Amino acid sequence: MSGHELGGAGRPAAFFDLDRTLISVNSAKRYIQNERKQGRVTTRQMFLSAFYLMLYHFSLADIKEAYRRAAMSFRGKDHAELTASTLTWFLEEIAETIQPGGESALQEHKAQGHPCVLLTGSTSYLAKIVTDHWELDDWLATQFVVDDDGKMTGEIDGPICYSDGKVVLATEWAKQNGVDLKQSYFYTDSFSDLPMLEVVGFPRIVNPDPRLRRMANRRGWPILDWQEVESQEATS
Ligand SMILES: [Mg+2]
Repeated sequence: MSGHELGGAGRPAAFFDLDRTLISVNSAKRYIQNERKQGRVTTRQMFLSAFYLMLYHFSLADIKEAYRRAAMSFRGKDHAELTASTLTWFLEEIAETIQPGGESALQEHKAQGHPCVLLTGSTSYLAKIVTDHWELDDWLATQFVVDDDGKMTGEIDGPICYSDGKVVLATEWAKQNGVDLKQSYFYTDSFSDLPMLEVVGFPRIVNPDPRLRRMANRRGWPILDWQEVESQEATS
């Protein structure tokens, strides 16, 4: 197959960011709050708090280093236990935060036969649960190495699903699934997702951060409002 055929063939898909896009909250922030509420003020919680701060104030290289450190803080944790506790936490704290506009967009894309794919900086544990719960077709997220005893090693397996890492994972997925990114959609709130917004044919901006709003206005990208008018999360 020649180079220019690779980009042309295939069907559309719809990719969705999770935090503050499909859901109205930042799941990492909610997770840290939950750990604190449960009285688990641990090294892990401290790493995760530092990680959350870095997402908003530091460079891409710093953020990727923070991801690795956050993953390291899970070393020795039991894979099955984390799967179960993530599900409990999701059902109690996260499931209700789906944005009305997100539910509608999922339904519209499903009706058109587009595969719906979660493309998130959150963990694979949460990504799997979200995909099952809202019946998406697949997920792409940061994955962790689990050893033969079912314990996390603290290492990350493959690219970090953040910024340009999302492009790497989505491009590979598109190739394997006969999807053409130039015919595809990507919904996100965050300027850090600019690389992925630039490779899809239909970038869709959802309740954006100020930097992404300016960029969207400059480039003529549609800006969507997926929040409820009486949203309780407006200031969190
Ligand atoms: Mg987001």
